[in-house]
Amino acid sequence: MKSLIILGSTGSIGQQTIEVVERYPDLFRVVGLSTRGNTILLKEQAKKIKPLSVAVADINAALKLSVEIGAIGAQLLGGPEGIINLCRLAEADTVVNALVGSVGLKPTLATLEEGKNLLLSNKESLVVGGEIVTKLAKEKKVMITPIDSEHSAIFQCLRGERKSQVKKIIITGSGGPFRGRKKKDLKNVTVEEALAHPRWKMGTKITIDSATLMNKGLEVIEAHFLFDVDYDSIKVVIHPQSIVHSLVEFVDGSVLAQLGPTDMRLPIQYALTYPERVPSPVTAIDLAELGELDFEEPDLETFPCLKFAYEAGKAGKTYPAVLNVANEEAVEAFLTERIGFLDISEIVYKALERHKGFEPDLTILEEAQMWAREKAQEEIERIENKR
Ligand code: MG
Repeated sequence: MKSLIILGSTGSIGQQTIEVVERYPDLFRVVGLSTRGNTILLKEQAKKIKPLSVAVADINAALKLSVEIGAIGAQLLGGPEGIINLCRLAEADTVVNALVGSVGLKPTLATLEEGKNLLLSNKESLVVGGEIVTKLAKEKKVMITPIDSEHSAIFQCLRGERKSQVKKIIITGSGGPFRGRKKKDLKNVTVEEALAHPRWKMGTKITIDSATLMNKGLEVIEAHFLFDVDYDSIKVVIHPQSIVHSLVEFVDGSVLAQLGPTDMRLPIQYALTYPERVPSPVTAIDLAELGELDFEEPDLETFPCLKFAYEAGKAGKTYPAVLNVANEEAVEAFLTERIGFLDISEIVYKALERHKGFEPDLTILEEAQMWAREKAQEEIERIENKR
């Protein structure tokens, strides 16, 4: 039986993880849950699951919950430190990191330091701290199992294969709600339009990242670190149906792919039960009913964020962290209607252009991120004043 901590249990991936786990009470026990500030849902989850500890990152929300925590019967940990302490819970052997954004890095490092299995949905852990994270995982002999659907697909295609015989990794992306449009058509798109993802139902941050193709860019960097493959050997192809979740090309010219419905419960379950497979509630695809699958090159003119991510990844050092933070700030500003859709890539570009990269350790990464956050905010204000 696996003993789990679910970080970000009130988010989209966290809730679906609980759904998968509840189907197999003989395989999993949940001992820890965490949320940023959604204590209403956290309470509901805790009453049902009866974890040993819960963590609430937002300190005010944690204080409010502390009054009622006796009734739930779990230990309460508050603040960002609380999430990290939760990862150290002795009763857990596996941590599902379903946090959103760069806040996921420290809990990832704490999990690896403890030698616990890491099931990773938080791609920013690798985008921001890829070198530190992979080095620590090696040191502690911990395997990082991907939950991101594309990386789960690649992970499945690589099973039993030799790394030296891999030629290329091919990551698919739906292209988002604005696929086929040109830059001039995107100037005045609304938040609502950007949030209308054609295939996947996800959180707001990742849905905007899918519309700008930044999500694919972050996934390229994630794949580079997870599978130790050069950027020149990672390709992105747009596949609007989102049935082929990614592919691996081998030296003999064979290409393996993983196909399935667009349902995150599948990659979540695979990571949880790996190396086993067990039945799931997901209905398998019907190829004849699908009829055809389409593939096309990504349009980097219209969606330059993908290009910037490749450039930041290749430059290495603190560049990917700066790319990620500038994007986080820009997406937040777009969601609150402070800037337009096209401004997102501009803000990322300017932050990268002005940055001088350093070899990262944890302190340098934090400084670089703080710097990028400031630069992005300056740019957001400048754009706001011009509007
Ligand atoms: Mg993905």
